This record gives sequence, structure tokens and C-alpha cells, in this order.
Amino acid sequence: MTSIIYPTTNFKATEQFFIERGEGVYVFDNKGNKYIEGLAGLWCTSLGYGNRELIDTASEQMSKLAYTHMFGGKTHQVAIDLAEKLTAMLPVEDAKVFFGNSGSDANDTQMKLIHYYFDAIGMPEKRKIIARERSYHGVTIASASLTGLSVNQIGFDLPIDALGVLRTDAPHYYRGAQIGETESDFVSRIVNNLEQLILKEGPDTIAAFIAEPITGASGVIVPPDGYYQKVEDVLNKYNIFFWADEVINGFGRTGQDFGSNTMGIKPDMMTLAKQLSSAYVPISASVIRGDLYEAMVEQSAKMGVFGHGYTYSGHPVACAVALKTLEIYERDNIFERAAQVGEYFQNRLRELEQHPLVGEVRGKGLLAAVELVANKTSRQAFEGGGIGAFAQQACQNNGLIVRAVAGSSIAFCPPLIITKRQIDEMIGKFSKSLNEIL
Ligand code: PLP
Repeated sequence: MTSIIYPTTNFKATEQFFIERGEGVYVFDNKGNKYIEGLAGLWCTSLGYGNRELIDTASEQMSKLAYTHMFGGKTHQVAIDLAEKLTAMLPVEDAKVFFGNSGSDANDTQMKLIHYYFDAIGMPEKRKIIARERSYHGVTIASASLTGLSVNQIGFDLPIDALGVLRTDAPHYYRGAQIGETESDFVSRIVNNLEQLILKEGPDTIAAFIAEPITGASGVIVPPDGYYQKVEDVLNKYNIFFWADEVINGFGRTGQDFGSNTMGIKPDMMTLAKQLSSAYVPISASVIRGDLYEAMVEQSAKMGVFGHGYTYSGHPVACAVALKTLEIYERDNIFERAAQVGEYFQNRLRELEQHPLVGEVRGKGLLAAVELVANKTSRQAFEGGGIGAFAQQACQNNGLIVRAVAGSSIAFCPPLIITKRQIDEMIGKFSKSLNEIL
């Protein structure tokens, strides 16, 4: 054992998986074994490993200006350029951008922006956030309170009530539908539940509804058609913001540039991280509609300093690498390419629907999950949920890195640069692994 306290790890686990280097869509362990990276690290290394342009950009920026803070209006060109580039590409009206370091801290920032905004416009009671069951929004005290997974909450005494976090249904038809319920009945029922929750709590107390357009860590839930349109109708009726957590969905992952576009959502706020820099350096962005920012500016004499910022907000090296990442996405048509390869990937993965262990295959673009079941007909889950870890290990033994999520689903999220041939390699290794554990 080392002196490290490992994140999201059972401290008793002794198995260690020592990754030494990466190249394209592959990584190599310390014994020289090669693995195809089926999860792009942790849903983030979109441009793969060893990208020379990103490496050079980081090095050049470090030589020029390794660091400056941005408190009190101190600024630098790369942060300004990155924010402008994002504003031009995001489906948030006249987007204004606050930079952070991780998806979790960016979601904390969003909560503070919401509080500050509603205080500024004289509605301090409009503060509560509706989050969904089986969602993942991070692990800080505030973002873990938004997260809807017990593993991130048990034992931490999170101030869920104090923060005003409310919970509504996960839009997962396969697991959430009642017997005989059609997809459209299911959608009507859970959206009605959402509306009843809003009415019970009082619409004037609810600020925002947070959702990953397609969830990631909770099992890649793709809501049925019409779900988001109905949700948006309800939110608009009661003046509640749509806060899209695009930490995984953002930047070409789901078949379009943003998950909000793939799913037909018009967000008021958006959280970004991971593929913003292809994970070469940590950076995140909390994005809000321009008019919300303007309203806060107008009231700033009354409000004083927005007392929130990180040492590394707008870090020059992170901004430079993120800007270069966005330039590469655009220049090399990465999103269009990923959409084409993504379609091929989804089709190939659905060939596994006939496999005796496979209950459901779901996903869009280059994001997917395969749910393993004990009984295909009854959809009965495996007891204890250990099947996911078992399958993940079998894949690893066959040179494929995937991730068990929600106990019994296997998640895929390969680098956006993956080719069709490499998709074939990935699916081949996966089906071999499934047959081995049958
Ligand atoms: N939001 C979503 C949708 C995520 O998937 C994640 C991480 O996986 C986060 C927030 C938290 O990001 P981070 O791990 O960078 O804090």
C-alpha cells in the first residue's frame, strides 16, 4: 500500500491497477499490458492520450505566464478568449462564464450564483433546487447534496434540507415504469409528480431544476421522447430555471455539440468540465444566461462583492489548454466525426441485446451503458449488484477498460477520436468478457 487515500474506493480493497502511459485511445499498465480506454479515463479524455498540440500549448503557456489570479477584476487574455469562444458555441443565451477546477466546484458555484441572483432581484425565498433520483452532480458538500446516489451521501450528514434540495423521479422507463405503462404514460406520470412537488413546496421557493441531459455515472439514462419538452413546459409555467449539468454530455459526447441540443433542451444555466480541456488540465465552467448576470451587475452597489472564487479560477494554463481543445474540436470536425462513429457504436452495441446477460442497451453518440440482468424476461437484477464489478474485471483482463455503474450496468464513453475499427475491437473484447462470465 502507498500513503494515498484513494478517491471513491473501498479502503479495504487491495487490488491496484497501475497505469503508466497513454497513446491515442490506448493506455498501458506498468507491466506493459495494453488496454483500449472504453471510458476515456473518467468520461473525459476526449482527444485521447499524447496529443502533441495540447502538450505544447500547456508548455508554452507555462513559459509565458504560469499563473495569475482573477480576483477583483485582474485578468488575462486567454481567459477572455476562452469565455468568448464558449459564449459563441453554447446553447445558453448570451452566456456568461465563471471558471473553476472541477465539475463539483462548478455546481457549488451555480448554487451560489442562484442565491446571489435571487437576492439581487429581491426574491430571496426562491432558492430550492429540484434534482433527480439517480443523478450525479459531484461530491463536495453542496454538489453531493444534489447527487441522487446513496453511495455519495451515506455517512456524510449532508445538509440536503438546509440547502433546499428536493428530489424527483429518474426518467428511466426500463426500471421506473409501472406494469403495463407505456412510455408516454410513464412520462406523463413522472412529470405530473414534478408539478405536484412544485405546487406542494410553492413555486416561489423553487429556483432551478438540475439534470444531466443523459446521465452518466448513474447508468446512462436516456429519457423517453417528449420527457424534456414536458418538463420544460412545467418549469416555464412556474419560472424555474433549467440547469443542465453537461459535465459528461458537453462537447460532442452525445451525437451533437451539447447534450441539451441532442435532447432538445433550452437551458438557462449549464455546468461544464471534463472534455472542456480533454482532461489534460483541470478546468470547469459555470455558465448562466447573460440577462441573469446583467441583473446582478445592476444590483451590485446593493449586493457588494460576489464573495466566491477559487485560487485557480481562470488558471492561464488550464484556459490555454481548454481553448486549444475547442479549436481542435472545431478544426478537425470532432463532433461530426464522433456523431458518425457514435451511430456505428450504438448499432454495434445493440447487437448484444440478444445476449442472455443483457437486459437493456442504452445511450446516444459515444455514451452508452449495458445493463446486466439475472433474468431477461422479468428484468430481475443480480443480487448484491456485484455483477458489474465482476464484468468490469473480466473486461480489464481482456484489455478493455470500462466502468461498472449503478451496480449492474457497464458504462462506455470512449475518446471522441476512436475509429470504427477500434469500436469493433472494443465490442469484441466486451462480448468475449460477457461470454466468460456467463
Ligand atoms: N456532474 C456530472 C454530470 C459528472 O459526471 C461529474 C463527474 O463525473 C461531476 C458533476 C463532478 O465532476 P468532478 O468529478 O470534476 O468534480
